[in-house]
Amino acid sequence: MSLSLFRQFAIFITILSSYPVHALDTVNFDLRWNHQFQFAGYYAAIEKGYYQDEDIKVNIRAGSAQKDNIDEVISGRTDFSISNSELIQARLQGKPVVAISALFQYSPEVLLSLKSSNIHNPSALKNKIIATNSGQLESHLLAMLDMQDSPLAEQLTIIKKSDFELEPLITGKVDMITSYLTNQPYTLSKMGIDYNIMDPQAYGINFYSDFLFTSEQLISTNYRLVERFQRASIRGWQYALANPDEIINLILAKYPTTKSVDALRYEAKMMSTIMRNDLVELGHINPSRINAMAKSIIEFSEQNYDLAAMDGFLTSTEDKSIQQFQWRLRFLLLFFIIAACIIGLYFRLHHKLRLEIKEQRLLTRQLKAAVNTDPLSGIYNRRKFAKCYKHETERSLRYGGKFSIVMIDIDNFKQTNDTYGHEFGDEVIKKVASILADGVRDIDTCARYGGEEFILLLPNTDEYASGVLAERLRKKIQQCTFIAQNNDIVTITCSFGVAQFQGNLDSTSRFVVQQSQHEGTIACADKALYFAKKNSRNRVCYWSHITEVLADTA
Ligand code: GH3
Ligand code: MG
Ligand code: MG
Repeated sequence: MSLSLFRQFAIFITILSSYPVHALDTVNFDLRWNHQFQFAGYYAAIEKGYYQDEDIKVNIRAGSAQKDNIDEVISGRTDFSISNSELIQARLQGKPVVAISALFQYSPEVLLSLKSSNIHNPSALKNKIIATNSGQLESHLLAMLDMQDSPLAEQLTIIKKSDFELEPLITGKVDMITSYLTNQPYTLSKMGIDYNIMDPQAYGINFYSDFLFTSEQLISTNYRLVERFQRASIRGWQYALANPDEIINLILAKYPTTKSVDALRYEAKMMSTIMRNDLVELGHINPSRINAMAKSIIEFSEQNYDLAAMDGFLTSTEDKSIQQFQWRLRFLLLFFIIAACIIGLYFRLHHKLRLEIKEQRLLTRQLKAAVNTDPLSGIYNRRKFAKCYKHETERSLRYGGKFSIVMIDIDNFKQTNDTYGHEFGDEVIKKVASILADGVRDIDTCARYGGEEFILLLPNTDEYASGVLAERLRKKIQQCTFIAQNNDIVTITCSFGVAQFQGNLDSTSRFVVQQSQHEGTIACADKALYFAKKNSRNRVCYWSHITEVLADTA
C-alpha cells in the first residue's frame, strides 16, 4: 500500500471514529419551584460557562405548583426538568420519562409538627390531622408510617393546604404538615417557634429526589445533547457545593427569589445532608434503589401498576454511547471485512493477471522463437539468418570489418532419401544441423537455409580461417555414422562453399562494394559450393579460388 493511500485510509478511519462537531443547541430547562439554592448547580453551570463548553444555550425557567413539569417534558415544551418520586409514578403510569441524574440521595420532604404537640415518632400520629400540598402523602412518608405495627395511614386525616403554608400548623388546625427540610424549619426558627421533624431518612427510607429528567423522545433523537447537558449540570453542582456563598450571591443578583441570604445559607447547609456528595458520586442513580422505590410506590398505590413499565427509565446516555460505539464498531468491522475482501480480490486478480502476463510472455517468446527457428532441426531458419546477415553486412560496411559466409549442402541426399526413406533423411538433417551448430562459436550464426542446405555467418573471420572451420566440420560429418532401418551403416558427406565480405571505409568505394558484395556474399558462397559439387563433392571450395580459376580459364 502506498504512503498516500495509507494516509487517506487513516484520515477516513479518524473521521469515522471522531465525534460529530456540535452545533449550538438551545434547550428549555424548567425548575421544579422558585429560584433557590435547591437548583444551585444549574445556575453555576450557566454562570461558569459549563453549558457553553458543551455548545448548549440554556433557557432556565422557575417552576410553580400550577405547572406539571412531567407533562411539559413529555409534550416537548421543555427539554429537561426536575422531579421527585412522582417521576417514578409517572413512569409506572406509562409516561415516557427518563431519569438522567438523581441529585438528592434522600427526599427532603419530611413531616413537621410543633414541639408543643409532642409528636416524636410515627406511632404518635394516631388520629392526627396532616396537611399536605397535594392532599396525599408521598410514598416515602407512607413507607415510614407503614413501618409501624398498625397501619397508621388509615388512622390519619389528610387535608390539602396551599404550597409551603405554615399557618394551619401554627394555628393548630392541623397537627403536622409536609415540609421541605431545607425550607419551613428555617421559617419556624426565625419566628421563634420550636418544632419537631419526622424524617423518613431516619427510618431507613431511601427515596431519591430531585431527579434531573428528560423524555424518551429526546434521548432517542439526540442522546448526545442529553449527555452534554448532564455533564455540564454535574460540573455546575460540583462548583456550587464547593462555593455555596458565591452561588447564593449569584441567586440574589440574577434570579428572583423570595428567600433571604440566611434562608439560602440554611438551605445550602441542609442540602449537603441530603445530597451526600461526600459519600456518593453526584447525580449517581442506583438501579436497585429505583426498583425499591417503584415497588414501594406500587405497594402504596391504589392503581395496578406493572413494574415492567420501569424498563428504560434509566436508559443512560452511557448505554446509548455504548450502543453507538457498538454500531460504530460493527460498521468498522463491516468496513474492514469489505476492505479485506476487496484487497483479497485485488491480490487474486493481480496474481491471476501476473500469471497471464507470464504465460503471454512465454507464448510471445515461443512464437518469436518459432518465427525464427526451423522446426525440424531447431536451429535458426532462413528468415532469421537474413536479418543477421543484413545486420552484419551493415556493421562491416560502417566499421570496415569483415565476415565470411559458408554454404553447406548434403551430398546426394535425394539418393539417401530414396534408399532409406524420408524419416531417415530427417534424422540426417537434424544430425548435420547439430554438428554445425555445436561446431561454431557463440558469435557465429548457424541456420538451415533450405531443404538439405545450411549456412554459416562467421563475423570477423576471413576466408582462410572460415575454410579451416569448414574443413573441420566436413570431416566431423563424414566421420558420423547412421544406422538405417535395414541396419545398413550409412555415412554422409557435405560440400562447403566459402566467401568473405570485406567492408570498406573509403566512402567512394563503399558504394561499389555495396553493389558487388552486400547482396552477393551468399551468392558467392553458393557459387563456391556449386564448384565443390562439380568437383566430386565432399570438399571445401573458396570463392576467391574459383574467381582465380575462372580468371585463369578466361
Ligand atoms: P547434390 O549432391 O547435388 O546436392 O544432390 P542432392 O540429391 O543432394 O540434391 P537434390 O537437390 O537433387 O536433392 C535434394 C533432396 O533433399 C531432395 C529432397 O527430397 C531432399 N530434402 C529436402 N528437404 C528435405 C527434408 O526436410 N527432409 C528430407 N528427408 N529430405 C529433404
Ligand atoms: Mg541441395
Ligand atoms: Mg544436396
